[in-house]
Amino acid sequence: MTNAPAPTLFERIIAREIPAQIVYEDENYIAIKDIAPKAPVHLLVIPKKVSSRLDEITAEAEMGRLWLTAIKVAAQHLSDYRLIVNVGKGGGQEVFHTHVHVLGGWDSAQAVGFGQ
Ligand code: 5GP
Repeated sequence: MTNAPAPTLFERIIAREIPAQIVYEDENYIAIKDIAPKAPVHLLVIPKKVSSRLDEITAEAEMGRLWLTAIKVAAQHLSDYRLIVNVGKGGGQEVFHTHVHVLGGWDSAQAVGFGQ
């Protein structure tokens, strides 16, 4: 009998229990296409080490690696982009396994306002 918490949705994707379109993977991170894209390109960069929300990550190196990986993944797909992290229910977070949204690919003629 174990008291381990149930795996998060993203842990199940990392374990290949749930299918996803994987666009990047290394020892510590995975990046997938969002199932309900809010932009022409919408990726999720996910640390394999689970934390519920961004503000649980307190180590500078870990925080830095997450953002550097998000920037690397973004640059593989886009020249211009937006990085977003929803923190907590009130911040719009639905999946409590920290992840960075990479959004972009809008037509440059299209207005891209904050909040879109
Ligand atoms: P949050 O609201 O937690 O910041 O973002 C969670 C994101 O995960 C949402 O944009 C949502 O569309 C995405 N998502 C939810 N379930 C799945 C899934 O099963 N597969 C993939 N690829 N993305 C998902």
